Amino acid sequence: MYDVNAIRADFPILSREVNGKPLVYLDNGASAQKPQVVIDAINQAYSQEYANVHRGLHYLSNLATEKYEGVRAKVANFLNAGSEEEIIFNTGTTEALNLVSYAWAAPRLEAGDEIILTVMEHHANIVPWHFLRERQGVVLKWVDIEPDGSLDPQKVIDAMGPRTKMVCVTHMSNVLGTVVDVAAISAAARERGIVSVIDGSQAAVHGPVDVQQIGCDFYAITGHKLYGPSGSGAMYARAERQAEMRPFMGGGDMIREVTKDNVTWADAPMKFEAGTPGIVQTIGMGVALDYMTSIGMEAIAAHERDLTQYAQSRLDGLNWLQVQGKAPGKGAIFSFTLDGAAHAHDISTILDKKGVAVRAGQHCTGPLMQHLELNATCRASFAMYNTRDEVDVLIEALELAHDLFA
Ligand code: PLP
Repeated sequence: MYDVNAIRADFPILSREVNGKPLVYLDNGASAQKPQVVIDAINQAYSQEYANVHRGLHYLSNLATEKYEGVRAKVANFLNAGSEEEIIFNTGTTEALNLVSYAWAAPRLEAGDEIILTVMEHHANIVPWHFLRERQGVVLKWVDIEPDGSLDPQKVIDAMGPRTKMVCVTHMSNVLGTVVDVAAISAAARERGIVSVIDGSQAAVHGPVDVQQIGCDFYAITGHKLYGPSGSGAMYARAERQAEMRPFMGGGDMIREVTKDNVTWADAPMKFEAGTPGIVQTIGMGVALDYMTSIGMEAIAAHERDLTQYAQSRLDGLNWLQVQGKAPGKGAIFSFTLDGAAHAHDISTILDKKGVAVRAGQHCTGPLMQHLELNATCRASFAMYNTRDEVDVLIEALELAHDLFA
């Protein structure tokens, strides 16, 4: 039985007030709140178990290394990767996708080679590919979404041609909540020798992920959206792809031997993790994944499905509000605009006065905003701890905003 009140009690920040009102935190798509177990783990790591990892021959360094390296298996389980060596730690999806761009793509792609993207990608899954367009003449091929915000996987597959080398798609849109059939896209890519890169930043928060079932080459997740610390993240990178990758950043930890004349690399995945890593952040991410798993990813998904349906029906009742994206099976992310001249920033300021935290702006999705012909939207994005009552508070606050601007 999913006990949302018990879950809420695990997140200390949820009992605070903002502007004299109980906090209704609906900005989870930007970053999620942290349960006490994660906060305690960070405290424990710094107060009792801290040292640098991989290089010490003393008790604390060994302990920190054990805890830090232990997270690799947790991530591998969370994503159902075949082995923990296929998990590369990083600071989040932005770093992960830049690693793929520099380490896998840059040495192989030539002028005229193509990368397929959809118009609803986050800038983290656009800009690293623009670098290749700018520097190497790689062609970016854009696939449009349908009017309801869904993505037809066949359109992505149809865009694959003889010069296509990569397909880089989000598993869930951070603006529309659209869930993409990344398994169909990855399978078609694999058949054609095209590498698939999946941005799992949003999807991995809301339901189970199985990278073996998806069959992709790369899958990135980001710790701070998964109820873990900011500055933590991980990427599944298929072993064959890792073998083809040269290191991106150089420094300590990623080498086997350095002389005046030569350098040899450590084995993957360490080869891609230069310098002192986010030790405590990564340990905290591991605890966050344990926390999610203890509640159950299917249970979280079911709770959020109920919230999505409820929020959709309440928002549909406001005939002066337009929800962007109504793809079947969409996740608990709602971007909307209000009729009239009110800017999304003004709406969010009014919501904030009522204790409701949403995001307003372009959500790092310039091409999507262009496609939707919008300057900005407000976005309410839900998490495992949100409730129907909070949807009601959002609706009341929106009615107030509408009255003020009508
Ligand atoms: N991709 C998507 C879909 C996102 O929503 C985000 C974060 O907003 C990112 C990538 C970037 O993640 P990070 O800033 O943690 O690197």
